Amino acid sequence: MRILVVGSGGREHALCWKLAASPLCDKLYCAPGNAGIAAEAECVPIGAEDVDGLVSFAKKEAIDFVVIGPEGPLVKGLADRLEAEGIAAFGPSAKAAALEGSKGFMKDLAAKYRIPSARYARFAEAAPAKAFAQTFAPPIVIKADGLASGKGVVICESIAEAEAEIDAMLNARKFGPASAEIVIEEFLEGEELSFFALVDGSHALPLASAQDHKRVGDGDTGLNTGGMGAYSPAPVATKEIEAAIMERIIRPTVAGMAAEGRPFKGVLFAGIMVTKDGPKLIEYNTRFGDPETQPIMLRLKSDLLPALIAVRDGTLQSFDLRWSDDTAIAVVMAAKGYPEKPETGTVIRNLDAAAAIEGVTVFHAGTRLNAKGEIEASGGRVLGVSASAKSFEEARARAYQAVDCIDWPGGFCPRDIGWRALQHAGS
Ligand code: AMP
Repeated sequence: MRILVVGSGGREHALCWKLAASPLCDKLYCAPGNAGIAAEAECVPIGAEDVDGLVSFAKKEAIDFVVIGPEGPLVKGLADRLEAEGIAAFGPSAKAAALEGSKGFMKDLAAKYRIPSARYARFAEAAPAKAFAQTFAPPIVIKADGLASGKGVVICESIAEAEAEIDAMLNARKFGPASAEIVIEEFLEGEELSFFALVDGSHALPLASAQDHKRVGDGDTGLNTGGMGAYSPAPVATKEIEAAIMERIIRPTVAGMAAEGRPFKGVLFAGIMVTKDGPKLIEYNTRFGDPETQPIMLRLKSDLLPALIAVRDGTLQSFDLRWSDDTAIAVVMAAKGYPEKPETGTVIRNLDAAAAIEGVTVFHAGTRLNAKGEIEASGGRVLGVSASAKSFEEARARAYQAVDCIDWPGGFCPRDIGWRALQHAGS
């Protein structure tokens, strides 16, 4: 098969790494890819959101299957456009990607199909939004309805802060059209986890659980980021919790989306809060997580490609995947200044020595080759230094040994990825 992966991050590197190992894969392209992905796939300089460019490339190169990484092209309808041209695609239609593209849509679906989630209401006007916010004891959660590069969720510690945020989003259009509408909701207390399932329109196959670190600094402090590290499985995700997530959240969502005439095909990435009343849905993403995909792919023993094809063909019912019992972790190394003003163009050395450490795989996110053929930083999040091992402690030690081996004065990473998992191990 001739395959095209769309995207350029650590997630896409992990997907390419797994797909390139499939005996079914004859030729692998990635658009636009990065310096690490270039070892697995032929990178083509087409932007991940350039829907026209991607469709015409896929036609010209007789691509059999397109795997879409990020949410942007999904919401823009890349899967629909490819399928209309007779090219099979992994990823939901634009109508189904609304689960991620509109927080209000997701909340309405959860309410209609009785999926446990936070109490909420949707608003396009500031006055009724402020009145509703006053019915909560802070913290109060305010969300821009549309895609806002992961920045659209604000947790307000007082009513005054909530009122200011409502004005900023609805009146000052802080996130542009994405905040023309907002969702206000109850703050859920508990431990957070991510849960991934493949869905073929009517059946769901659980993949794995993970936990991530969103803040830039140690101790989960500092500015919000795209994600500074992740590990899989999440110790909080016991068999009982996973069964409850499938039963009360994933399956009703799949049935609800089908009933709404928006059958979901792709990967459902559920943000879950494990509360004292059981797991509740925080939000959905309609694509693989970044960096969660890196440790998840390290744990997947089966060939990924047939599973993705079964999702697209609607034949997931008879499918099974084999997983390693190992724990895997990814530590994200970012360019100094990230997330505000990452300094790019700094040279990264010793990556081969790091990758030679037992159990270690270094996935690239924002890297490129410079004129001298050296690898340099080209974005904020730059590397996903990943490792697997029998125990969580060992996987973590291997990942940080690899981090310390990488010679990159222009980069940094949190030093405490996985502290929650260590706490579980100790408790
Ligand atoms: P993002 O993944 O950038 O959309 O950020 C969403 C994050 O905000 C989640 O991962 C939670 O940590 C937090 N969050 C969102 N909604 C709630 C809620 N209702 N209660 C508690 N935390 C929330």
